Amino acid sequence: MIKEIENDLRDIVGEDWVVTKREQMEDYLIDETPASARPQPAAEVVLVKPADSQEISKILKLASEKKIPVFPRGGGTGLVGGAIPTKDGIILSTERMEKIEIDKENMMAIVEAGATLEKLLKAAEEADMLFPPHPGDEGAQVGGLVVCNAGGARAVKYGIIRNYVKGIEVVLPTGEIVNLGGKLLKNNTGYNLMHLMIGSEGTLGIITKVIFRLYPKFGATATLIVPYENRHDAINTVPKILQRGIIPLAIEYVEKDTIEKSAEHLGKKWPCEEGNAFLIVIVAGTGIDEVYSESEKISETCQENNSLEPLIAESREEQDRILDIRSNIYTALKPEIADILDVTVPPANMGKLMDVIDKIAEKFNAYIPTYGHAADGNLHPHVMVEKGKGLDHVKKLKNEIYKAAIDLGGVITGEHGIGKIRIEDLNLCLSEKEIQLMEGIKKLFDPNNILNPIK
Ligand SMILES: Cc1cc2nc3c(=O)[nH]c(=O)nc-3n(C[C@H](O)[C@H](O)[C@H](O)COP(=O)(O)OP(=O)(O)OC[C@H]3O[C@@H](n4cnc5c(N)ncnc54)[C@H](O)[C@@H]3O)c2cc1C
Repeated sequence: MIKEIENDLRDIVGEDWVVTKREQMEDYLIDETPASARPQPAAEVVLVKPADSQEISKILKLASEKKIPVFPRGGGTGLVGGAIPTKDGIILSTERMEKIEIDKENMMAIVEAGATLEKLLKAAEEADMLFPPHPGDEGAQVGGLVVCNAGGARAVKYGIIRNYVKGIEVVLPTGEIVNLGGKLLKNNTGYNLMHLMIGSEGTLGIITKVIFRLYPKFGATATLIVPYENRHDAINTVPKILQRGIIPLAIEYVEKDTIEKSAEHLGKKWPCEEGNAFLIVIVAGTGIDEVYSESEKISETCQENNSLEPLIAESREEQDRILDIRSNIYTALKPEIADILDVTVPPANMGKLMDVIDKIAEKFNAYIPTYGHAADGNLHPHVMVEKGKGLDHVKKLKNEIYKAAIDLGGVITGEHGIGKIRIEDLNLCLSEKEIQLMEGIKKLFDPNNILNPIK
């Protein structure tokens, strides 16, 4: 069946943008999911790289008519196998659609789905503005960021991707092109279909263009590394900082062994020699005085809660180095990781969750490196590959962590989504009725079940 449509696809996007040879599409058959958790790609797939939404519309009309699965693909940085083509079908990459237009008057960016986060950050900065969120891999593309509703470190002050999206152009599985929202800060016109698309993980439509809200550039920023001997003291400080009326851009929690490993992997040195556990706090403000004053208050609060002497990085280079080391933890550990979780609990339960994870590690005699977005209640426990212990061990361990998060009022995923590797865990935290409603929505948008059908 796939062979039969190759020529139709060439007619739509042009000869050069249809890839049929397996060896030329290897990179599109995987994503950043750890190898042992990653689903297998299907045998018969074709890769297409359309230039615009009109071409995507034609591809989806064809696929709908022939009932052929379509797997939208962004930067391939997903951690739950979302973009992997697990059925014979079409991989649709948006990589050629990467135009960015900045609307200074409205302080918005109009961005095609294939532009990377790196490119968007740069474009905003060049226009003297800021796109605040920073999910850890700048190779992620705008379409992927939106349908995964990505979070990341810098969510404390202004929120996750959803908080920035004001408009979307989307091609529905039937091929119709719809514009949802616009350059609007307020819009209460009917059900909010735009927000339904955000976080839909490529099951309801293909995002082709996004309108993002931008912010004024910060006048100054500083990054504090706050060392602690005791992990509980570190976690318990977080609400105290927020209750003092200071909302930093980011508050991250990391541990000595993992952060040092990440630094070493980059050929860099973690700048803090003291302590076993660290908070990384990014402070941003209109000017250096404001940033100093907030940093001082944060240092004071941390020291009142038993921290050791905080380090302050002020230069852009030093701050970038710290964020790089933090963002690289996953990559540094990746060869030994069986699965990376992103369980999320009410922020005040973060310490309790970490205690239960310690108990689970003891019970399973397992090493579970853990770090996360401390002010968001969002933790990344890593299930590691262990010799002599197979997938069954990984599954049991994972389920215990999921149950612990749910018992504490949490969910199994706060960032990475369900993808293709968490489907069987979905009913742990969603009711039958919720799943039924979601299935109904999927049928309405995608009557032929062609878009990411396995999900
Ligand atoms: C080192 C590292 C750090 C990370 N840090 C974070 C983090 O801090 N916070 C966080 O939330 N995530 C993080 N991630 C996960 C990942 O970067 C995000 O989920 C990101 O949003 C995926 O975007 P992508 O373009 O790579 O999507 P892909 O992996 O290509 O695809 C992901 C899903 O989106 C669908 N999709 C892609 N493009 C479109 C489109 N245009 N229309 C419709 N569907 C589409 C795909 O079908 C798939 O289901 C990290 C990943 C890595 C490797």
